[in-house]
Amino acid sequence: MNGFEELMAALKESNRPYDFDMITQAYEYADKAHERQMRQSGEPYITHPIAVARILVELGMDTETICAGLLHDVVEDTASTLDEIKKMFGADVALMVDGVTKLTKLSYSSKEQRQAENVRKMLLAMAKDVRVIIVKLADRLHNMRTGEYWKEYKRREKALETMEVYAPLADRLGIRSIKEELEDISLRFLDPIAYEEIERMLKLKKEERERFLDAIQEKIRERLNKEGMKFFLQSRVKSIYGIYRKVYMQGRNFDEIYDVYAVRVIVDTSYECYSVLGIMHDEFTPIPKRFKDYISTPKANMYQSLHTTVLDKEGGIPFEIQIRTWEMHYTAEYGIAAHWKYKETSDGKKPGKSEEEKLNWLRQILEWQRDMSDNREFMSLLKNDLD
Ligand code: MN
Repeated sequence: MNGFEELMAALKESNRPYDFDMITQAYEYADKAHERQMRQSGEPYITHPIAVARILVELGMDTETICAGLLHDVVEDTASTLDEIKKMFGADVALMVDGVTKLTKLSYSSKEQRQAENVRKMLLAMAKDVRVIIVKLADRLHNMRTGEYWKEYKRREKALETMEVYAPLADRLGIRSIKEELEDISLRFLDPIAYEEIERMLKLKKEERERFLDAIQEKIRERLNKEGMKFFLQSRVKSIYGIYRKVYMQGRNFDEIYDVYAVRVIVDTSYECYSVLGIMHDEFTPIPKRFKDYISTPKANMYQSLHTTVLDKEGGIPFEIQIRTWEMHYTAEYGIAAHWKYKETSDGKKPGKSEEEKLNWLRQILEWQRDMSDNREFMSLLKNDLD
């Protein structure tokens, strides 16, 4: 068992039109190429590219990208050549494998200059095909997930690089799940004591939290049903790194973080988002200055939602309500990956859309440096710690 069966099951379960023959062929090719190679964990090497492909399925990526995920280390680590890949799997897959190989070869150094250069090179690679970056992010995510097998210094180096380059990149591309997991694992490697403390706090409050969120959801459900709305409810707890930033960097008390708990209301149209907002502000007591309209003013990574922090009329803990449409929801979770899918299924019916999107990403990326201050603060904090 190396994970391939689970990968195939996930591909089938997705109901997307994958080319199973081509994916199986890519797997067999990679399996042979990596034969006898081991990971530091002692597992066969092939488990890594399979896990990377699995992450790519979860992001909804296409057949070519899944193949590139399976093949991403063969040129770097084995006797395989790009020409061979191109002949067997086509130019797109070869281009992605080449891009990922080049990114992997960039050696990381914490010197600011080298850093900026790395980022620039990554951007150049990205301009050719954003899928390269998505494969690279999946690669880094799986390596971080299995990072306990690295030696201490390597773990720190990888975690620093992840915080400086990859998590912000995932953020810029709007791929929330990857961004948050990368940040959480990095924090666990860089500041294990703080990480465990937050984890413990969250665990301590788990029952209390679940009771609280259930009661709130029930209240929202009842009210929205009464108003005749069609909706879907979800709740979420802030990521560990998100809490860390507020507690350790902004010096806030755990109980003062209002958006540790959030309830999400998902509806069909943006018109309904504003209706739900009005109803929520009537049902609960909104906290002044805690309302944000990311629908009329989306974030640079395309994120859209209404956020409001409210208080139950009977008192208690303030909590956040996030209101969005399904389309906004997919963009919030998968970012550029969601739009990649979009572009594919639109089947040329929306000409110019992909070009426009491409320009948008580039515009966002250029703005990237501006809003990285939060992260820079974090890095300087940790670097002082390391010296
Ligand atoms: Mn790899």
